[in-house]
Amino acid sequence: MIIARTITELQKIVLEKKKQRKSIGFVPTMGYLHEGHLSLIEKAKKHDDFIVLSIFVNPLQFGPNEDFDRYPRDFERDEMLANSANVDVIFYPDVNEMYPNDLSATISVKKGVGVLCGKSRPGHFDGVATVVLKLFNIVQPTRAYFGMKDAQQVAVIENMVADFNLPVNVMKCDTLREEDGLAKSSRNVYLTNDERNEATEIYASLKQALGLIGAGERNPNVIKETIKAHLQAKTSGSVDYIELLAYPSLKEVDTLEDEIIIAIALKFRQARLIDNVTITIK
Ligand code: AMP
Repeated sequence: MIIARTITELQKIVLEKKKQRKSIGFVPTMGYLHEGHLSLIEKAKKHDDFIVLSIFVNPLQFGPNEDFDRYPRDFERDEMLANSANVDVIFYPDVNEMYPNDLSATISVKKGVGVLCGKSRPGHFDGVATVVLKLFNIVQPTRAYFGMKDAQQVAVIENMVADFNLPVNVMKCDTLREEDGLAKSSRNVYLTNDERNEATEIYASLKQALGLIGAGERNPNVIKETIKAHLQAKTSGSVDYIELLAYPSLKEVDTLEDEIIIAIALKFRQARLIDNVTITIK
């Protein structure tokens, strides 16, 4: 496994593989790898010949009071995990390599950002789209793999790829969970033991919502209130949002039909956790 710390180095390697007509699978991450990331790599290995994993904690997508400085980082451990997952190259640039100068232009995301994380993290998706566009141009992947754990991110990136005719296939990957249902996340390390136990209630409340829909409930407000009551009764976290929206348009709906997303953000003392499920209603 090669570690490329510079853009030139990475591009040279990828160009060589492209000359050999190898397909390039790209898994962008912020590191502190867990099985969720590894499941993306596994899927990439099924479709692509040569796997590039990027590890870059992107300052552009963090707000001034967010966790950029304390975001968990452990490159040695990541390197070991990536190696055992048979990644071919880790692209591991530092901030100066990615942003040597103030950017003269950035992506401003207009659709699908007035809701969910876009509402509580203004500018976040501009930062995500900008770095992903940059990474796509650097890596020039055949396919790029993204987790549905960050479903809004997937929608934003799919829209950007369509808007700018980017020559890449966006591959959506299911959310990998702990045995008790908690979605795997690098930020789970911020939880205290009590909070870690309570955090299982996020997925429990999503399943409860799916049960209600299965039983015929079609009023989004009823589901929202049920989830809210569940989380308030069973956790010490505070609800950032509970939303039921059409997916992938992320538009508000009066009644639940077709494809919808039920998404939650719950704030614990040091960690803001997100999770969601999508469901097709017939
Ligand atoms: P991050 O390092 O958190 O930016 O995540 C990098 C990629 O891994 C994103 O596409 C995430 O959606 C995806 N990811 C994060 N957690 C999970 C998970 N539990 N299951 C599947 N994919 C995940």
